[in-house]
Amino acid sequence: MAQLINGKEVSQRVRESVRAETEAFKAETGITPGLAVILVGDDPASKIYVGNKKKACAEVGFNSFEHILPAETTEAELLELIEKLNADPAVHGILCQLPLPRHIDERAVINAISPKKDVDAFHPQNVGRIMIGSYDFLPCTPAGVMELIHSAGISVNGKNCTVVGRSNIVGKPMAMLLLHENGTVTVCHSRTKDLKAACLNADILVAAVGKAKLITADMVKEGAAVIDVGMNRDENGKLCGDVDFENVKEKASYITPVPGGVGPMTIAMLMRNTLTAAKLFNRG
Ligand code: NDP
Repeated sequence: MAQLINGKEVSQRVRESVRAETEAFKAETGITPGLAVILVGDDPASKIYVGNKKKACAEVGFNSFEHILPAETTEAELLELIEKLNADPAVHGILCQLPLPRHIDERAVINAISPKKDVDAFHPQNVGRIMIGSYDFLPCTPAGVMELIHSAGISVNGKNCTVVGRSNIVGKPMAMLLLHENGTVTVCHSRTKDLKAACLNADILVAAVGKAKLITADMVKEGAAVIDVGMNRDENGKLCGDVDFENVKEKASYITPVPGGVGPMTIAMLMRNTLTAAKLFNRG
């Protein structure tokens, strides 16, 4: 039976360390880290995420600046706001909640955020720096997964790692971070011919797909560590991951639950990135 990796506890520890570091940073520099969060439109899930980010900022001692814009906001208006925030010395991190309405080019918006304030690490300059292993920020969700792996004392070195999903936000950077720690990494996606074989080969399996219970027990190697990034609703409307938790936990050595696994880590890592951005600002 697998040991549970408790994301709530680990994220609380990360937040606590960010809070303590922030206190010391403020005392030393007089700077309060500030995070600007932009939301365009009124997607209910996005509204909840934005609210949670605001709460997390208050908890660690940051200023937060919310910019809730109507769905009809034009791309030019949004880019203008980003320019203002780029120049604002009270704002150290800028996050634009995705997805954006269809009439706005997501890539143009990501590219407009100053790489020094890009706490999501989506800007091409930051993505490139992650590729070469020389970065200031890591994308929050993959960074949170690495933190969970470390918290459980799991070494990636030399392990077979399979990442299911290849999005720019999760799958691709996840694969890169595992590679940086000397994992032998396989990345799977919707065109992968034999997903089961790739998963069965994994000592560390990360599922980031968005399909409820796609990863079943017969796809998991005995003793594997299984990290579930997915956030889905099951047939009863209950939150669940990409992994068939009840059955996979009997085979894995470590497993993350949904909820209470990777989810809470994402915001904790965002707080860490915002503090890093404030420190970069202070260095000039
Ligand atoms: P995307 O939809 O951008 O990417 C999904 C990936 O899964 C794609 O690469 C796709 O392949 C692949 N895929 C789809 N179907 C299959 C299949 N049957 N077999 C193998 N691969 C498949 O999603 P995200 O990466 O943004 O998110 C993934 C999941 O993680 C979602 O449930 C999301 O809600 C969750 N999430 C959770 C976060 C958290 O904080 N816990 C943060 C971010 C995301 P292809 O490229 O070929 O289309």
